[in-house]
Amino acid sequence: PATLGVMGGGQLGRMFVHAAQTMGYAVAVLDPDPVSPAGRAADVHIATGYEDEAGLAQLMQRCEAITTEFENVPAAALTTLAAQRPVAPGPHAVAVAQDRIAEKTHFDRCAAHTGVAPAPWVAITNAEALAQVPDRLLPGILKTARLGYDGKGQISVEDRAQLAQAWDALHRVPCVLEQRLALRAEYSVILARGADGQSVHYPLQRNWHRNGILAVTEVDPNGSAAGPDWAAQAMAAAEAIAAALHYVGVLCVEFFVVDDGSSTGRLVVNEMAPRPHNSGHYTIDACDVSQFELQVRALAGLPLTAPRLHSAAVMLNLLGDCWWRDGQPHSPDWARVLTLPGVHLHLYGKLQARPGRKMGHLTVTATDLPRARAVAWQAAQWLGMAPWPVS
Ligand code: ATP
Ligand code: MG
Ligand code: MG
Repeated sequence: PATLGVMGGGQLGRMFVHAAQTMGYAVAVLDPDPVSPAGRAADVHIATGYEDEAGLAQLMQRCEAITTEFENVPAAALTTLAAQRPVAPGPHAVAVAQDRIAEKTHFDRCAAHTGVAPAPWVAITNAEALAQVPDRLLPGILKTARLGYDGKGQISVEDRAQLAQAWDALHRVPCVLEQRLALRAEYSVILARGADGQSVHYPLQRNWHRNGILAVTEVDPNGSAAGPDWAAQAMAAAEAIAAALHYVGVLCVEFFVVDDGSSTGRLVVNEMAPRPHNSGHYTIDACDVSQFELQVRALAGLPLTAPRLHSAAVMLNLLGDCWWRDGQPHSPDWARVLTLPGVHLHLYGKLQARPGRKMGHLTVTATDLPRARAVAWQAAQWLGMAPWPVS
């Protein structure tokens, strides 16, 4: 069979492997970890570093087309691959998403057309820039320009003294400082865009984070609590962001609705992920076409059809914390959780549970959101997870 390649061996790669294999493809995964979740599910596992010449050569030789499952794959490695094989998303799009300075610059440009801007921000790359930070950006959040995820590499600061300390604590690497906004709600949009420029998308989904890590995603086929207005604005903004990058593949764009003194609030674009996203895992069980299948289709040059959400869904992330009780290792009672209706359990096959580590997720599907929530709350309680606020 034709073989597709993936740079990266985490759970996103694993779910891509499952979708590709379902459609008859073989998959080769390149990841240095010999027991990575995707590597163990793949047909071929190349266990070298991401920049290893022999590893990249083997991936190119084996594969018709190559994608990436995490945004910190060295962009130079993708450029090497793209010289010989279709790579989606392309090295340029991934490079922009890897660097918050390039990403926010891109968002500012798109905002001129869409009206959806990022939080006010500045780049901090040297002591001069630090000294010239405008007062209106404080209190703010200092974020490393590169390599941050799950809230890592971020420090919340109240004033200039704390800002200077925070930049020292981050070893004075290039950063962005953005204004800390009063969030009313967080949302994300997932779209898939083909090489022909046509795109399809999922409905607006609502997200709750805990300690900087996505905890819960909810999506409602009867229109979201956000109101149709935010959904339309967010879709238009995400499509403009993708189009301006000539993006091919699945893209997730995160948004905030913030208090701006008005009754409705204002939509702000936060960041993007150049790949299927944790907030789209519900699409496996609640949609007729999952985000991973759309990634396969986009990569293989197959048609993209508009996905249909056929059920309300609540996705709970299963962090390593569920495997610990009172400081002792603990086996979650899956059999009990699986007595509940509409529960879909996904475990990633990770060998070690650590607090904060994404071990799996659970999607509850139901005919409507209140029913899905009621089941998800029960599951969360049995698993020792904090309930999430719903406003
Ligand atoms: P991810 O794991 O989604 O890639 P990340 O580490 O790249 O996360 P962000 O998405 O930038 O980080 O921020 C993490 C969370 O911190 C956001 O989802 C939001 O809850 C909060 N946050 C980030 N920026 C701001 C801001 N400017 N004002 C208020 N809250 C913010
Ligand atoms: Mg991020
Ligand atoms: Mg984020």
